[in-house]
Amino acid sequence: MSNQSMNERRKAAVTPAAASVHPLYFQRAEGSYVWDVEGNKYLDFSSGIAVMNLGHSHPKVMEAVKRQAAEYQHMCFAVGMHPTYIELAERLNRLAPGPTAKKSFLVNSGAEAVENAVKIARAYTKRSGIVAFTHAFHGRTFMAMTLTNRPEPYKNGFVTRANDVYRAEYPYLFRNPWGATTEEELGEKALAALKNQVKYSIGESEVAAFIIEPVAGEGGFIQAPRNFLAGLAQYAAQIGALWIDDEVQAGVGRTGKMWAVDHFGLEPDLMTTAKGIGSGFPIAAVTGKEPIMDSLSPGMLGTTFGGNPTAAAAAIATLDAVEAEGIVERARQLGEKARARLQVLTEQQPRIGELRGVGTMLALEFVQADGITPDSATTDAVVAGARDLGLILLSTGTYSNVIRLLPPLNLSDAELDEGLSKIEQAVSQALSQTGSREATPA
Ligand code: PLP
Repeated sequence: MSNQSMNERRKAAVTPAAASVHPLYFQRAEGSYVWDVEGNKYLDFSSGIAVMNLGHSHPKVMEAVKRQAAEYQHMCFAVGMHPTYIELAERLNRLAPGPTAKKSFLVNSGAEAVENAVKIARAYTKRSGIVAFTHAFHGRTFMAMTLTNRPEPYKNGFVTRANDVYRAEYPYLFRNPWGATTEEELGEKALAALKNQVKYSIGESEVAAFIIEPVAGEGGFIQAPRNFLAGLAQYAAQIGALWIDDEVQAGVGRTGKMWAVDHFGLEPDLMTTAKGIGSGFPIAAVTGKEPIMDSLSPGMLGTTFGGNPTAAAAAIATLDAVEAEGIVERARQLGEKARARLQVLTEQQPRIGELRGVGTMLALEFVQADGITPDSATTDAVVAGARDLGLILLSTGTYSNVIRLLPPLNLSDAELDEGLSKIEQAVSQALSQTGSREATPA
């Protein structure tokens, strides 16, 4: 079997709409490494897009899944209940930020969690308006797609959108429309603009919820300023709206805290989680303040597979291991180490416009020679070059010009060094290919 022969079969069997960054077919994965069908070994700095926070095939997760699957694999919660669902809900409620008692609803994917959070917010507030942000990604289902920012490739072609969704400006220091030069100033300006938009263009009494990623993932690893998120939470409460914290990508330790919102000391009304909670098993959740979660009547929410026992067992084992192995603290340390080395690279390479991020969620934004025009060609060349060097990387960003680091959070110092060396080499090779090109307008 070769990557090439699989590609032929793929072309015949799979819609091209389901695109893949790397033309590779993986056969084995363990810890921080993956092997393709030709036996080539790669260090995985994608973690299946922020999913394998414990690395591949973590023994405690594998064992929990085997144990549960040997008992039974599926029991629809809507038919008869099972203890794993309750245990996971209890765990998520305990882990969720803030002092208010919480309840959870379990589903299968991040997009489904977002869909249900919006349904809950609308049912609770009896209002319809949902305010999402530029640079946001919330998934591909109908409502989640509408909340997602980028038209290409996520929305164009699908003809229609969900109703009553509004878009406000996400505070992005490197590219902000207000000319703000500090996070503090940016937060103030963005908050004032948001309030202005809600008050004069949407209507304060029409807003059911604001949905925001405290660190925008697909938007380019942009952390919201502290005063902005705090002001947003306060404003939502003032106008009788909820705020939904989307932790699907940034949650479960990736930022060096359990949840990205923990950096702000805030308590969201509703929180969506997925990806990292299940170590690759399809599980996701909406966790929210008890009075909100209790406001819906029995039967208003449901799903056949949501919170299925095998995936729930994987999530419980994942959260156990995150605690027992000090994964959150490890992510913080790895992030500091990686940032120091990437800082040197950024100073050496003027075509890296910005190094940013939090914890291990670090990103390099590539620009053309003018210092601002997004450079997606160099970014793509870095991803391809890193792959040739044995490193799986992903790009991100509204302008596809950001390299993001999504390593497992328990990788060793030696593995981190190996990955960073490969990034340095791939960047220098890519810039020697594309670096001489003249800047062209975006
Ligand atoms: N929300 C955020 C912040 C995400 O990053 C993603 C996926 O990348 C989603 C929601 C959608 O999750 P899923 O792909 O599991 O539907």
